[in-house]
Amino acid sequence: MKIELSEFFSNEGKQDTISVATDLERFESKLGSFLITEKAPFELHLENREGKELLISGETDVTVNTVCDRCLTDVPTSIHINLDETLDLKTMGVTEDEEDGPAWLESSKLDLDKLVYDEILVNWPTKVLCRDDCKGICFKCGKNLNLGTCSCDRSVSDPRMAAIRDIFNQFKEV
Ligand SMILES: [Zn+2]
Ligand SMILES: [Zn+2]
Repeated sequence: MKIELSEFFSNEGKQDTISVATDLERFESKLGSFLITEKAPFELHLENREGKELLISGETDVTVNTVCDRCLTDVPTSIHINLDETLDLKTMGVTEDEEDGPAWLESSKLDLDKLVYDEILVNWPTKVLCRDDCKGICFKCGKNLNLGTCSCDRSVSDPRMAAIRDIFNQFKEV
């Protein structure tokens, strides 16, 4: 969703609270593509403060289908979105040394989806487990061990699998 901000740029003291909703259907990152299963309209407050700054604030929660680190099943995870931006109306940036302005600003329009995306990214859970004692999957046959055991001998760890796990964990740490 894009929100026209020009009225708020030009009218000193103008403020309003509007109902907005994100159009984001998925959260795509290098970790993968995750379905956003729940999102609701929420209130966004816009305020031109003394003709100098535009304050943008609002809060909501979205539910994203993340994936268990051990067994790879879907885990719906609620992520809190807290939007709190101050746009300098002179420089059209959020910080002093910013040259091109924030990525969520497209000329006079606010790209809500970009703001929400950034918040999901910042608040992405570092560890996701379907349950604390998740047994994971068998690295030999791929069976979900929460659903029962398999007959594989898992006493010898497979170096190829360990390498894949390392790569996966590296991505998780970013
Ligand atoms: Zn699990
Ligand atoms: Zn197995």
